[in-house]
Amino acid sequence: MRIPIIGARGTQGKAHVIEIRPAKNLRLRRFSLPKTPLEMSIYKGRESAIRHWLLNIVHSAFIIWPSALTTGKTHPMETTMTWRHSRPAAITLLVAVALACLIPATAATAEQKVHLFILSGQSNMVGLNPDLSFTPTVTKALSPDKVIVVKDAVGGQPIRRWYKKWQPPKGVQVAAATKPYGDLYDRLMGKVKPAIAERRPDTVTFVWMQGERDAKESLSEVYAESFKGMIAQLQADLGRTDVNAVIGRLSDNYNAKKPLPHWTRVREIQVKLAEDDPRTEWVDTDDLNGPGNGLHYTREGYVELGKRFADKAMALIANGAKSPAADAAPVTTQAPAGTSKPWFFIVAADPQLSGKEIDEQNWTNGIKHINRLRPDFVVVCGDLTFGGNKSEDRVKSPMLERDTKLAEAYNKITAILDKGITLYNVAGNHDVGQNPSAATVELFTKNFGKPWQSFEHKGSLFITLESNLLRDGSASPDLAAQEFAWLKATLADAKGKPYAHKMLFMHHPLYVKSPDEKDAYENIPTTRRKELLALFHDGGIEAVFFGHRHKNEYVKDGNMEMITTTVAALGASPKNNPHGVRIVEVYGDRIEQKFYAYETLPEKVMLKDK
Ligand SMILES: [Zn+2]
Repeated sequence: MRIPIIGARGTQGKAHVIEIRPAKNLRLRRFSLPKTPLEMSIYKGRESAIRHWLLNIVHSAFIIWPSALTTGKTHPMETTMTWRHSRPAAITLLVAVALACLIPATAATAEQKVHLFILSGQSNMVGLNPDLSFTPTVTKALSPDKVIVVKDAVGGQPIRRWYKKWQPPKGVQVAAATKPYGDLYDRLMGKVKPAIAERRPDTVTFVWMQGERDAKESLSEVYAESFKGMIAQLQADLGRTDVNAVIGRLSDNYNAKKPLPHWTRVREIQVKLAEDDPRTEWVDTDDLNGPGNGLHYTREGYVELGKRFADKAMALIANGAKSPAADAAPVTTQAPAGTSKPWFFIVAADPQLSGKEIDEQNWTNGIKHINRLRPDFVVVCGDLTFGGNKSEDRVKSPMLERDTKLAEAYNKITAILDKGITLYNVAGNHDVGQNPSAATVELFTKNFGKPWQSFEHKGSLFITLESNLLRDGSASPDLAAQEFAWLKATLADAKGKPYAHKMLFMHHPLYVKSPDEKDAYENIPTTRRKELLALFHDGGIEAVFFGHRHKNEYVKDGNMEMITTTVAALGASPKNNPHGVRIVEVYGDRIEQKFYAYETLPEKVMLKDK
């Protein structure tokens, strides 16, 4: 890829060619960047290429700089390049490119972004030829990124041929299967895996045109959970949590003749699946029916369907770039990493509402202070409520009813948080049990949000983890493996990006005093502890925040800060260890954090301007 750039100040206005080569024939050179900001006019129409190029630099730190700018010396430095478009409606792209002094030969490669689309379903997917409209539409929209489209569909098949853990509705018998459930899914993945090879796609979108058979077999009752299970299965296989889905809703061809209740129901479910999940969309096919309102679409109908699928897929991808979990493009018009204005967030831990009025009063008081201080967001590091430690008891009466009430109390109080302050809840042992099961994690998700997630804010990356699963995944090994794989992938993805800071939140401390201390109720067991320490260090995590200990504590592991925050609400506030929250100030080059008892919180957080 060669991008001509003209009019670069500092290069005497001569035309230059900046060249990015794929890793295979990349020649490593040492280079330096000018210390003063560089202004360049970019050829009209080349913005997207430049944008892509910048992304490549950010991802790879590989660049062969025009020789005129090379001084022969290599400096570890951070350079801000200002790109100005020559038209009046200028888009100013700012990017901070942190370049290491020595670039190891094994550093990340200058690969293109890759977007994977998986198309599957029954006959109306068989009839769709992606080459006619789907692939051209996404390719055009994503240019110059790489697009991979994989399709595998078989007519007349029920969803159980994709979803391995399919269960019939209660009391319903289906014909004995000749093949294990999920065989068509395996066939599909047999095409997906070689298509992506060793690459990790930047986005994955699953396009689904299916449900006719399940409607005809009167199996609509389990359709929603089967679809969700199938997506979870795909996410687990791909080691990610950000798969987009586009569902083609069954057309109304039956409605025109004799409406089948289950047909209507599947249609409703398909719409609801999309409405309930920000990563799922649906498309209308009612106007695509074949002659005589037939089940199969017309030739033009299939072309139109491909276009509709592509449009929704692109909308999801565009949305995902804004959402925290996605692999968002770091080059935006907002301030680059490291140069945003100082800001702050708040960490609280263990409000541990137990049903007593005093806890709720304390927590309400805390939330009111938070509203007054106006942080960008709040993270609560677990033990939101005082539920039971054993996960098997938590999903049964009477604990289930008790915990539900506690969750309601917690959510009622946090609902008074001002709209502009985002709340991130971390799971503690009292929220999911010390040995979480799929059911307790699901309850947590329902009551408090994602058990683990990442989000970007003002050029920094934040990760929350579910530490009970990391400590003891015995009751749900799949889920534990999924979380660990997600963490690894998230840290690997984040490596090449110019985040100002990377911070992490979890309930259990990795250790209290020493990395070699014995396994205990307080910490993460040794083997897992070592794995996580290595991962965090390798991923460049700067600070980790914990709860669980009901104390304020601080240790440093190498240059990683590990900070434990005491109770925010449970019981009366002890004099020697009073209730309060931690304010974390974020500057371009550092963070500064301090715990405050509620009564000692400042009137206003005074950020230091440098
Ligand atoms: Zn705890």
